[in-house]
Amino acid sequence: MPPETYDYADRRRRHGDPSLSIVVIEAGSDVSNRADVLEGLPQKQLGGRSIANAAGKVLRGSTAINAGALTRGDKQNYDHWVNVAKDSRWSYDGLLPYFRKFETFHDSHGDANSHRFDGPIKEITPHERRRTPGVAEMIEDRLDGQRIVAPFIYPLDGVDVVTNTLVKRVIIKDISSKKVATAVELADNETGIAADREFIVSTGAYRSPQVLMLSGLGPKDELDKHAIDVYGAPDVGLHLHDHLRVLQWWKLKNPEKGLDWSVPKQGLLDALAADGNLDNAAVASQRSHPEKWIMSMYYPAGTLSMGEVVDTDMRVKGVEGLHVVDASVIPVPLAGHLQNCIYAMAEQAADIILNH
Ligand SMILES: Cc1cc2nc3c(=O)[nH]c(=O)nc-3n(C[C@H](O)[C@H](O)[C@H](O)COP(=O)(O)OP(=O)(O)OC[C@H]3O[C@@H](n4cnc5c(N)ncnc54)[C@H](O)[C@@H]3O)c2cc1C
Repeated sequence: MPPETYDYADRRRRHGDPSLSIVVIEAGSDVSNRADVLEGLPQKQLGGRSIANAAGKVLRGSTAINAGALTRGDKQNYDHWVNVAKDSRWSYDGLLPYFRKFETFHDSHGDANSHRFDGPIKEITPHERRRTPGVAEMIEDRLDGQRIVAPFIYPLDGVDVVTNTLVKRVIIKDISSKKVATAVELADNETGIAADREFIVSTGAYRSPQVLMLSGLGPKDELDKHAIDVYGAPDVGLHLHDHLRVLQWWKLKNPEKGLDWSVPKQGLLDALAADGNLDNAAVASQRSHPEKWIMSMYYPAGTLSMGEVVDTDMRVKGVEGLHVVDASVIPVPLAGHLQNCIYAMAEQAADIILNH
C-alpha cells in the first residue's frame, strides 16, 4: 500500500508551484562522505581487465564526491547531440540560457553573451595560464577552497526527502490502452509510492537502466532471463559511454628549470626524438599501453539515450508519466565535465516538464 500519494516529483519549490507535493527517494543516506564502488566487467579492449567505477550513493548524488571540475564541453559535441536527437533545444545555443543560469564565471571580463557573473556556482580556474592551441583552462566550482555541491544550489526546502531507501522499479499499468507509470515499488517489496502526475528517474547512468529494466523496459532476451514482463524499450542499458584516463609519465632532463605544463607538442616530440628511439613519440602505442593503464574517470552516460529510449522532452517513449533526467540520457560523449551539462539539462528539463 502506498503510504502517501504525491502529485508531482519534479522541481524545487523555488522554481515551481509551492502547492505541488514532491518526494525525493534516495538510496543513500544524508551524509556527504560515502561512496559505493562498482566493479566493471572484464573488457577485451583492456586486455581483459575490469575497472572500478565509483558513484555517489548519498543525498546529492555523485556531486557529493566528485572533483568539482566544471567545463561545459565543446559546442560541436552539443551540435552532434542535436544531429542525433533532432531537437535544437539540446544544441549548445539551446542550452546556453541554462548554462548561464547558475554560474559566476571566473573571468569578470569574459563574454557576457556566454557567461553570467553573479550565479550561485562560483567558478575558479586554479592556474592562470597563457593560451595554448588545443589546451583549455580547467574550471572548478569552489568557494574558499570548498566545492559547491548540488544542495548549495538547489536546496530541498519544501520537498519530502526519504533517504536510505532503494527504489526497485516503476509500476506500469495498462490504462485505456496506454502504458502508464502509476507508482514506484521500493526494494523492500512491500512499499509503494504513488504519484498523480510524474515520476522522474534520476538514479544515474548505471542505476537508471537497472530501475527501468526491473520495470519491464529493456532488451527482451535479458528481461526474459529474469521472468520480467516486457513493455518495450529495447535500447535500455545500451550505448554506454565514459571518459577514460591514460596517465603518462615523462622524465624531465632538467627538472631544476621547472615545467611549463603547456609543453608545446613539437618541443615534446623533439625532446623525445633526441632520446633516441621514437618515430612518432606522442602517439606510439608501444609507449602508451592504453590497454594496461586506462581507468574510468567516472563519467558514465548514454545508457538511456535521448532519441532511442527517451524523447527530447525526456519522456520514456511509450510510457506516460515517466521521465528520466540524469547522465543516462546524454546521447553522445562530451569533451567536458558532465556535471555542468547535467545542471543545465536539469534546468531545461524542469521547464519542459512543468510546461506539459
Ligand atoms: C569520483 C567521481 C569524480 C567525479 N569528478 C567529476 C568532476 O570533477 N566534474 C564533473 O563534472 N563530473 C565529475 N564526476 C561525474 C559527475 O559527478 C556525474 O556525471 C554526475 O553526478 C551524474 O549525475 P546523475 O544525476 O546522472 O547521477 P548521480 O549524481 O550519480 O546521482 C544518482 C543518485 O541516485 C541514487 N540512486 C541510485 N539508485 C537508486 C535507487 N534504485 N533508488 C533510489 N536512489 C538511487 C544514488 O544514490 C545517487 O544519489 C565524478 C564522478 C565521480 C564518481
